[in-house]
Amino acid sequence: KLLTLNQFLEAIVPQFRVLAEAQGLQLNYEQPEQAIQVWADPDLLRQVIENLLSNACKYNSTGGSVRLQLVPHPGWAVVQVIDTGIGIPAVDLPYIFDRFYRVDTARSLDSGGSGLGLAIVQQIVQTHGGQIYVTSTVGQGSTFQVELPLKPYQ
Ligand code: ATP
Ligand code: MG
Repeated sequence: KLLTLNQFLEAIVPQFRVLAEAQGLQLNYEQPEQAIQVWADPDLLRQVIENLLSNACKYNSTGGSVRLQLVPHPGWAVVQVIDTGIGIPAVDLPYIFDRFYRVDTARSLDSGGSGLGLAIVQQIVQTHGGQIYVTSTVGQGSTFQVELPLKPYQ
């Protein structure tokens, strides 16, 4: 299905804003004026965004924030989920997309979770011809960047 990401993401935000605010977090959504369109399965893409936003809230703490950004790039739609949470140690970063992998601090948070979320996210993104990247600093936060091929000839 041809999706305009600007509206697609905007529609997901309200439910997460409720969740975020209940945790004392701010959730912001930033989008460009131009329409950014991709071919994607809406149910699967929704799972990607929901998993990333859910992690950004879960591994965060009161007073923190979560930013969802839609950024235009030549040939690619870039969606970033940026949090001010606990961060991920560099030694764990190569494994967080593996099934059932959870960082020790996440376990000890007793936050619940199976360690499957990001494995599913990466699978869906790759099925759509895209990539996902993460950068993180312990104690400062994490940025997950999803790149999806733009609808051609737009
Ligand atoms: P679930 O299957 O419910 O999503 P989960 O959240 O533990 O469980 P993933 O979403 O796959 O599993 O994430 C894997 C691990 O990566 C987490 O357990 C956590 O240690 C780390 N992680 C993921 N996202 C973040 C984040 N935004 N900030 C800090 N750590 C994170
Ligand atoms: Mg998760």
